[in-house]
This record gives sequence, structure tokens and C-alpha cells, in this order.
Amino acid sequence: MADLKTDVRFIKGIGEQRAKALGKLGIRTLRDLVSWFPRRYEDRTETRRVAELVPGETACAAAMIASAPTVSHVRKGLDLVKLRAVDETGVLDVTFFNQSWLKNSLRPGETYVFCGKAEGNLFRRRMTNPVVEPQGRREATGRIVPVYPLTAGVSQLILSRSVRQGLDACADILPDVLPDEVRREHQLCRVGYAYENIHFPESAEALDLARRRLAFEELFLFTLGLRRLRQRRETVEVEPFGPVDMEAFYAALPFSLTEAQRRCIGEARADMVSGRPMNRLCQGDVGSGKTMVAAACVYFSVKNGRQAALMAPTEILARQHYEGLRPLMEPLGIRCALLTGSNTAKEKRSLSAALAAGEIDFVVGTHALITGGVEYRSLGLVVTDEQHRFGVAQRAALAGKGDHPHTLVMSATPIPRTLALILYGDLDVSVIDQLPPGRRPVQTSLVDSGYHPRIYSFLRKLVREGRQAYIVCPQVAESEEAGDDRKAVTEYAAQLQREVFPDLRVAFVHGKMKPKEKDAVMSAFTARETDILVSTTVIEVGVDVPNAAVMVVENAERFGLSQLHQLRGRVGRGAWQSYCVLVSDNKNEETRQRLRVMVKTADGFRIAEEDLRLRGPGDFFGQRQHGLPGLRVADIGCDAQLLKEAQGAADALLERDPDLKTCPATAERMAELFAEADVTFS
Ligand code: ADP
Ligand code: MG
Repeated sequence: MADLKTDVRFIKGIGEQRAKALGKLGIRTLRDLVSWFPRRYEDRTETRRVAELVPGETACAAAMIASAPTVSHVRKGLDLVKLRAVDETGVLDVTFFNQSWLKNSLRPGETYVFCGKAEGNLFRRRMTNPVVEPQGRREATGRIVPVYPLTAGVSQLILSRSVRQGLDACADILPDVLPDEVRREHQLCRVGYAYENIHFPESAEALDLARRRLAFEELFLFTLGLRRLRQRRETVEVEPFGPVDMEAFYAALPFSLTEAQRRCIGEARADMVSGRPMNRLCQGDVGSGKTMVAAACVYFSVKNGRQAALMAPTEILARQHYEGLRPLMEPLGIRCALLTGSNTAKEKRSLSAALAAGEIDFVVGTHALITGGVEYRSLGLVVTDEQHRFGVAQRAALAGKGDHPHTLVMSATPIPRTLALILYGDLDVSVIDQLPPGRRPVQTSLVDSGYHPRIYSFLRKLVREGRQAYIVCPQVAESEEAGDDRKAVTEYAAQLQREVFPDLRVAFVHGKMKPKEKDAVMSAFTARETDILVSTTVIEVGVDVPNAAVMVVENAERFGLSQLHQLRGRVGRGAWQSYCVLVSDNKNEETRQRLRVMVKTADGFRIAEEDLRLRGPGDFFGQRQHGLPGLRVADIGCDAQLLKEAQGAADALLERDPDLKTCPATAERMAELFAEADVTFS
């Protein structure tokens, strides 16, 4: 008897060979196989008559093969199979490229269904490389057909046949991870029906039911997992921090904190004296001053005799935080260090030893801080900055580091509420809803490349007034020639230096430079040794050079709104009027509309909502890499209502049965999904 952990090669009808091919997709167990959900579907329910095929449209037609297919060998690597099929309404000429085996499997006199794009004219239709199968088989035609994500060596047909075998093998053993009462209350179909119809939908309605049920299930399990993480944290006891006189810290700042900053610091301090580990998200729009909230918490921790770590997503940012905070911290008696991937092994060892010995109070770095076996003597607080690049799993890894340090997460991207619920469902939230005083909104305009001469003279004027400028070029898509973005940036910078600004200091920075080189360029820009910095989006997040007053974004249509908002947040940080110029020649009305959102509003939350609505959640996570356990069917951009329902159901269940004793299948599946994302509950 099969169980869901059975290796696919033992499934009837699959065998070694096919199992190996499936392995390339990461499909190993029966569970993997039946959970390999289609990416999309093609509705091939309808079969037309030949005369009803419309040139240019994709459709299916049933027709009888009129004479034996012919094979011609055109040249090496190109064989053609040709045949003529007919019905009572017309003639369909079919050509297959390099599928010579079809010659023997397609029999004259029998009727087949051909599915593909019709060509030709109204008198004679043609199809090239259509999907073909005997009429009545209804495997690849005659119904709604799943389209799976694939890899080389596995065809749609092989995959869907394998899934068929898989479903047949586990029809009776699929555990329903949704407790009966939840299923009934939310009108969700049974698990068997859901798996059957997500793969082989009987109808569009059946597919909807299946999808709804599976999405609900995912969101439900996900919520349970997040609640469990929170629960676990709430049962952990840590030694409460004692009160600390913060006056010395506040007095050392060059400005007074905003009301909102003080409130967030207050909330974080309350967590840290509570005797439970803090797990808080501090959300604030770009420029709202999150760093100082972090700094206050660091001070609080260190004055409690506990080390603090600040983790940034890039070396540039880590270094900048370090250089910004050290002059503040050291006079207050706090010993600081910087630890990144570009430290030598020897430096790392000695830093690590100093951390273990308690000779460093405050360490800033990249995620080298939690990986690579760094030990702390007494880690009390971990701050992660610009959080959306770290996932649930990283947070869990952090929480396991040392003796349950307090964690504070600083989010750079204003995240729409629905997403925040998902991403940060296990966190408490503070919001900095106020900008430091005296900021003037960045003036934003949208122009086409015909404006370049004007843009250049504008830059020149600002530089003459003592300001600096950013020019951002888009990164080249991964599929294109690697290294091209480097070329785009370096060439553009060289051209500007040579032809436009021979008298100004132009520099460039891109993602493929060595960390040391990047740092050097950034430091020079911060020190005002360069006037104009041409860059890819490496400066997108967090970089703080208050003297920079203009941000030009080339090919702005290639960026997401949230990304543009981040970019724009790099200017307008000082006392000067700042500008953002979006350059785009794209005439597409939708694109223009999207870009115009930037001109109209400076509110990061509104922009994020709009971005989510227009582009879906991919932008917030990076494709598939969102690190959210088990979300395959659920579309977190669109299923907000379903999410609410699932959360309600999860909370109600936990209320009744906090340890999930009545539903072991639910508990087991939740643990499994989180384990896949490297989160364990033990
Ligand atoms: P972000 O929230 O984007 O990380 P930062 O912490 O980098 O923002 O702060 C943006 C800029 O505002 C920095 O130059 C910082 O020194 C300055 N700043 C922060 N808080 C205040 C304040 N209360 N008053 C004036 N300037 C401030
Ligand atoms: Mg910041």
C-alpha cells in the first residue's frame, strides 16, 4: 500500500526512467507528484468542424486522415511528416516538424483530434505541429487540459500521465488536512475532489472549487504555522531588560526625534522589558528615520549588558550603517564592529572571537552575521534592516540564535496590508507614520528621452549649486546576455563623462563590481568627491546621501512602482528641494498610467497598493523565492478575502484546540510545509 512518502519510482506505471526525469523537477515522492500543480490550463473542451476553424485562432478540430502520412528528410535535423485530414466540411493539411514517429502511429481512415493554431484561408486550412490524439481518448484534447511547469526531458503528456498514475495510487489515502467542520463551514470541497480537479478539471466550475479549496488550505495551514511560531515565542521566557536612562543617547543626536520615532522606540522598549522575546516589525516609509529607532534599541540592549547586531541586505548598506552609527555609538562607550562577506577569513575569525569574548557590543553586517558559525557571548538584540529580503525562515533561524534575542525588523517597503498580514503575521507591528520636519516633497516628472538635453543642463545647474545627482539605468533581464547591465552602466557613464559633463566628476556603480570597489565608489559619493553617480538599482535600498538632490531614472517603465518609490527615496533627504525625473519612451497607456502614479503621490503605502494591484505580488518577493511555506495555489495578491476567511478559521480552531490534538493530519501537514522552508517548531 502506497503512502504519500513513497518514492515515485514505485508507483505503478512510472518506473526508474520516468522517476529520474521527474526528479529533475524536484518531484521525488508521491506527495510531490500530486502537489505539482498546473501553472495554467487550456480549454480544449470544444471540437470544431474543419470549416469552422478560423485562420489565426487556436482551436481543436476532429478529422479523418485521408491518406498515409509522408515523411520527407529535408536536411540534417529537419524531418517533416505531412498528412491530409478531412471531414464533411473541408480539408486540413497538417505538418509536423521532427516527429517522424508519428508516421506509424497515425492511421489513415481513423479520426483524430488536432489542436493548434489554424492557418491558411477559408478554402484550405493548415496546422503546424498541432497536438494530436485519437478521437475519444480525451487526454490532451476534449477537455480542460493542465499545463505544467516543465523541464527538459519531461513533456506535458508524460507529466500529466504520471500525475494520473499518482492520483490513482493515492485516491484513498489522501488525508484531509482540513477538519470536517472547517470544510463544511466554509463550503470547501473534499480533498480527493480538489486534487482530481486541480489536475484534470471536469469543468470550469469544478476547477474553481478545487482551486478555492486548495488555496484556502494553504492559507489556513500557513496561518496556523505563523500562530504556532508566535505561540512558541510567547511561552519563551527571557530575562527582562532593566530600565535604562536614554537621555545620554537622545542628547548625542544632532536632531530631536519625531513623535512617531519616539512611539516606536517606546513600543520596542516595552517588549524588551516584558520578559518575552521581542518580535517586532517597524514599518516606515523611506526617509522616515528607521535607523534611529534601531539605534535607540541597540543602545538600550547594550546598556543592559547585552550585545546587539544589525543586519543589512547588502554590503553597501551594512558599511553605511556602520559608518553612520559608529560616531554616535563610540562616544557613548559602545564598542562597534563591521562584519561582511568581504572580510578575510582571518578577520572573520578574530571578529568572531571578540564577539564570543564579549569585547564587541554592537556588530553591523550582512547575513554573514547569522550564517558562518558566528558565536556571541550574550546576544540580546538583532535588528534586520530592509527586511523584505529576509523571509520567515531567516527570522526563525535568528530566533534560534543564542538565547532568544529580541528581534526588530525594519521594513523599507511599505507593504500593502494583505501582504503584511502574510509576511509578518508572526510579528507585532509599529508604524512610523511621520517624516522628520522640514522635508519638502520630491518634485517628480515624467518625460521622454527627447528631454535629455534639458535634463543634462538641469543636472549641471544643480551640481553648480553644490548638489549631487543619481542616474539609474535598469538592470538587464537575466535571460539576456549576462554582463550587459554592467556595459549599460559603464558605457553610459563613460559617454556622459566624455560628451556631456567633461568638467564634472562622473562615477558608476553596478552589482557585479567587487564589494571593495562598490564601497570605494559609494564612499567617494558620500564624501562629495563625485558629482554624478550612474548606477543600477544597487542603490535602490537604504543608501543615505542627503546632499543628493536629483534622481534620474532611465527606462523607468522597466521598474516596479515600489522600486521607483525606493529609488526616489534616495533624494529629498536633506534641506533642499529635490527632484525625480522618470524617463520613458514607452507609449503604452497602461504603462504611462502606472508611471503617473509616481508623479501624483509620494505616499509609499498607496504606491505599494497600486503596484500590487497592477503587477501582482512577484515584485515584493522575487519569483518563487518568497520563502512562504506552502503557498502554491493561493495568490496572495488576489486572495485577500480568502486569506481573511482562512485566518478566521485557523484562529477559531486554535481557540477550540490549541495543540491541534483533534486534527493530527492538520498538524502534521503544517509542520511538513514549514520544514520545507527550513522552519521547525520543535
Ligand atoms: P529610513 O527610514 O529610510 O531608513 P533613515 O533612517 O535613513 O530613513 O533616515 C533618513 C534621514 O533622515 C537620515 O539622513 C537621518 O539622519 C535623518 N533623520 C532621521 N530622523 C530624523 C529626525 N527626527 N529629524 C531630522 N532628521 C532625521
Ligand atoms: Mg533605512
